[in-house]
Order: sequence, then structure tokens, then C-alpha cells
Amino acid sequence: MSPQAARYDAIIVGGGIVGVSTACVLAARGMRVLLLERYTPAHEHGSSHGDSRMIRFDYEEAVYVEMAARAFRAWEDLAKRLGKPVFRQTGICNLAPADAEVLETLETRLRDCELPFERLSGPAFTRRFPQLSLPQDSEAIYQPDSAVLFADEVVRSLWDCVREDGVDARTETEVASIEPRENRVEVTAADGRSWSGTWLVLATGGWTGRWLDALGIDALGLDAPLVVTRELLAYFPQVGPVPHEAGAMPNVIDYHTSDPFYCVPQVRVPGVKAGCHRTGRKVEADDPEEVDRANLAAVQDFIGRRCPHLSRDPVAVKHCLYTNSADYHFILDRHPEHENVVLAAGFSGHGFKFGPVLGEILAARLFDETPPVDMSLFGLERFNRPGTLKPRTIA
Ligand SMILES: Cc1cc2nc3c(=O)[nH]c(=O)nc-3n(C[C@H](O)[C@H](O)[C@H](O)COP(=O)(O)OP(=O)(O)OC[C@H]3O[C@@H](n4cnc5c(N)ncnc54)[C@H](O)[C@@H]3O)c2cc1C
Repeated sequence: MSPQAARYDAIIVGGGIVGVSTACVLAARGMRVLLLERYTPAHEHGSSHGDSRMIRFDYEEAVYVEMAARAFRAWEDLAKRLGKPVFRQTGICNLAPADAEVLETLETRLRDCELPFERLSGPAFTRRFPQLSLPQDSEAIYQPDSAVLFADEVVRSLWDCVREDGVDARTETEVASIEPRENRVEVTAADGRSWSGTWLVLATGGWTGRWLDALGIDALGLDAPLVVTRELLAYFPQVGPVPHEAGAMPNVIDYHTSDPFYCVPQVRVPGVKAGCHRTGRKVEADDPEEVDRANLAAVQDFIGRRCPHLSRDPVAVKHCLYTNSADYHFILDRHPEHENVVLAAGFSGHGFKFGPVLGEILAARLFDETPPVDMSLFGLERFNRPGTLKPRTIA
């Protein structure tokens, strides 16, 4: 098929949570959209698979709190459209030594944003959360609005929704080249098929690095490295009667170590999901998976000291890619030279919960409209001043 024969308003490359959420937003604007995905929805090679992702509002930066609140309303709308829940409210416990700065930072932000929270410790904490063991000199900030999204169900449902909304959504279609022209972009698949669109959204997760090269971002002198890590997560089954399902147990982020551990209560896999944030091995996205035994042992030790009613023997060990930007903030921007190309990258292990808002932001970027939230953390121009980057320190 010649490119002229298949002209779309927008082509989205990558059908993880970011790409499919963007397809939803563009289809709702009445655009003719082509969504191209190399594998199938919620496949296990990228970043958007698995049974759960946390929704949380406890961020240091106000913009993420605002984005999480806006996305939350969209998740509620999706549940209404589907006629079934897509998340379960759990609350979240942030655990740390009582004098840790992270607790002060989170408390200040939650207070400023007028979000409810409690500070708990000692027997009051243990009575409330029997699933968790908190050291004597430690405290928890509990924020009740946090929830667990049913991640792969969400991705598959969004694929169904965009198809219903008229998006030409194609699986098992690997894009091999992207060529921006003056008022269109031409895209060719590995099997030789090609399409053209007026606009293009690049949402290729851990595979985005090669496109930054191919689209000349590096040649523009923008030092915007994306470091892909393969993060390990494991599911630990309950031993005894204390319930660990979402709803009975909160999400947990544990700041007793410089790399925080986290747990997500049981959803579908029969076990509590746990991992250690940003400790995965640096990889290329297509490298073969390999279990990092030392990382797994560290997660097992964490379960041993923090979750007294779980077995230390996991029922499943999985992997998932983080695509880390230099400051762990997202890249949501127009290509500096090709105004009809928008880049969505660097979700650095915390992008899923924002899916619908990321779609809105990318649409606004595409059409040069005022985005729904402040964009100052997310522009490419920040990489012109690497000395001024302020990396996120809290998970
Ligand atoms: C262990 C772990 C825990 C996490 N926990 C949370 C959490 O609790 N809360 C939260 O909000 N976030 C969390 N995240 C982060 C979140 O899951 C990611 O930020 C998000 O899924 C990124 O989505 P994406 O669409 O950018 O990437 P992906 O889902 O990887 O999608 C990119 C897609 O592009 C496709 N693609 C690539 N190249 C091509 C090509 N050439 N042609 C066609 N298609 C292509 C890929 O196949 C892939 O499907 C976690 C991540 C991990 C790894």
C-alpha cells in the first residue's frame, strides 16, 4: 500500500498504557487514528503488563498530585464505560525512620494539597495493619485514597475501547522507520507496509532510545539519555489467616533503605507483589530476561523483615522495564525540529497511573494547546541545562 493511500490524522507508535491512552483522547476528538503495536496488548516484554499498578497521590512535586487526581477521575469514567471496576481503593503506607526527611516532605505536600493522611506508629499501626511489621523507632504516613489499578485488564480494555471508537489499532506490527516530512510523517513497518499521518506520537517505552537517535534528537545537542533497566518483582503468598488482598492490605513504600522497597496487595496472582525501586540491571529492551539472584534475595529479605504473614518463597518472579530519564521526570514534548512529532518517554517507573492525563497532555502538545497541567518538568529543553536538573528522590 502506498503511503498516500492510507492517510491518518495521527499515527501512534507503541500500544502500552501511554500509546493506547493517547489513542483514546485523539479518537474522542474525532480524529482518524492509527495505533501500531509490535506485540499484543499487555504483552510481557515492556512496561504495562502485570495484574497491578499503584495509584498514589503522595508525591513531592505538586504537578504529579494534580495529574494523579485528574487521572483518577478518568479511571472512574473508564470503570463506568466498562461497567466493571478497574481499580480497588487500598490506601498506602509510606514507612520510614521517624526522623526521616521523606516523611516531612510527604506530610507537607499532602497538607498543602489538602489530602487526608495519618501518621501512625507502635501498637496503633500494628492493630490497623497486621500485615506489616514496623520497627520501633519508625513511623508511617497513611494516605487513604491510594488504590491498585488492574493493569493488564486496563490496557486490554482500552484497546477494546479505542477499536470501538474507530481507531485502526494493529497488533504484531513493528515499526521499522519513521520519516517526518513537512506536513506529514511516513511510517514503515518491518514487513514493508507503510502509512502516512499528519501527526505522530512516539510512545515506544523502553525502545525509545533508538528513535531519539533516528529522529536526530542527539544531533541537536540535547543530552536526553534514556536508561532502560529490567526491574524484578516477585509475588509472595500468604501464610496463615491475616488477609493480604487489595482492600484488606494497603500499598506500601518502605524508605528504610536508600532504594525503597514496595509491596502491592494481592489482586489476581495469589501473592503480594514486591520489588525494590530502581535496582534493576541496565539493559537493552530486547535483551533476554535473566533473574538477578541478589536482587531477588534482597526482596525476600525485605518480605522477611516487613511482612510477617507472608512466605519468603515467591509463587512467581517477573520482570518489567523502567525507562529512566536523567532526572526521572517524564519527557512529554514536541520534537524540536518536527512540529508534527510528539515524544512520550522516560516514565521512570511511575507512569501508569497517569495514563489518561498523559494522553491529554500529548494531544495538547501536538496541537500547541495549553496543557491541562504545568509542563515545566517535562520539556526537552531542560536537557540543554544538565547542571540544573533536579532528579526525583522520592519513589
Ligand atoms: C516493576 C514495575 C512497577 C511499576 N509500578 C508502577 C506503579 O505502581 N504505578 C505506576 O503508575 N507506574 C508503575 N510503573 C511504571 C509504569 O508501568 C510505566 O511507566 C508505564 O507502563 C510505561 O508505559 P509505556 O506505554 O511508556 O511503555 P510500554 O508499556 O512498554 O509500551 C511501549 C510499547 O511500544 C511498543 N513498541 C516499541 N517499539 C515499537 C515499534 N518499533 N513498533 C511498534 N511498537 C513498538 C512496545 O511493544 C510496547 O508495547 C511500574 C513499572 C514497573 C516496571
